[in-house]
Amino acid sequence: MILLEETAIDATVPDLSNGGWRSVRLLRRSCPVFGTGTRLIEGAKLTGSGTDLGDLVGQGGFCPFCRAHIEQATAPFPEEIAPTGRIRHGTAWVVPNIIAYSAVSAVGIYDPDRHVMTLEDFQADVLFDAFGAMLEHARAVRRLRPDLVWSSISANYLPPSGSSLLHPHLQSSHDPVPLAAQATIEARSRAHLEAFGRGLFDELVELERAAVARFVGTTGPWSWLTPFAPSGFYEAWALHDEAAELGDLDDHDRSQLASGLSLVLATYHRKGLSSFNFQLLGGGPDARATHVRTLFRIVARTPAAPWYRSDVTYFEKLGAEAMIDHTPEAFAAELREAFGTGL
Ligand SMILES: [Zn+2]
Repeated sequence: MILLEETAIDATVPDLSNGGWRSVRLLRRSCPVFGTGTRLIEGAKLTGSGTDLGDLVGQGGFCPFCRAHIEQATAPFPEEIAPTGRIRHGTAWVVPNIIAYSAVSAVGIYDPDRHVMTLEDFQADVLFDAFGAMLEHARAVRRLRPDLVWSSISANYLPPSGSSLLHPHLQSSHDPVPLAAQATIEARSRAHLEAFGRGLFDELVELERAAVARFVGTTGPWSWLTPFAPSGFYEAWALHDEAAELGDLDDHDRSQLASGLSLVLATYHRKGLSSFNFQLLGGGPDARATHVRTLFRIVARTPAAPWYRSDVTYFEKLGAEAMIDHTPEAFAAELREAFGTGL
């Protein structure tokens, strides 16, 4: 069964008010799903700095996702993916990604008419349309390329989340290999099932629902909770009670996911936050056998400020994989030159 492992660590820090030392206690926890560690400490590491994005928008620049450019700046899909070349649901568009980070990847634009959105602008209907368009693309990809069994839909919003474009968008990955996060879920779920005869996610939801402290509520088939050992600030999860794969998610599933997500984002907004990463993970080819369900995770990032972009995207933050635009071999060659190494 799931053990929620927590270690209390006592420390002392200088007390600048009286020149002495004072005791503080921090907690070190292990994530029962991913096995990662988290330190829960005192002191503000991330604070809301307001939700006015005016300075950011004022930086200007060309935007390929704005209404005036999207037709010309993005390519149509091949006919096998979208008969008319375009996938659109309500205000949302999906277009092929011009950067290859997966065997097949696509970009979804919530609304070409909205170049920037505060987090309370992400209403359920906007999210519903965007997920609908991304899921239609995902199903088309799976029909055409049944070998791409590992799928996810993710988002970076605003530069502190790793996003290179302001215009609100989301992205998908369809690959023959899992993200490290997906591989970890599969391996740990398989081991849990073999050891205890129960699915890891099933037990987690039951445990958290009974414990109440971290259970938020349900929207349709999704159970929302805050994870015992978060991977970042203000993290929330939604676990589907049945669907194993992104292709299993129907209109009801995505409307209920959208309504829960809009509530999380509105909460971030009230806290003065403006940037986030999220990731909706498909369970992969053995998900039914290992009782893995689709898992949605969202985490807040440092609020946006002009001229700052993080190099940590959803790949690193939630997918447990680094995405780097140079090879270590090329960098070693550069370093050898600096070192004067004659290799
Ligand atoms: Zn734009």
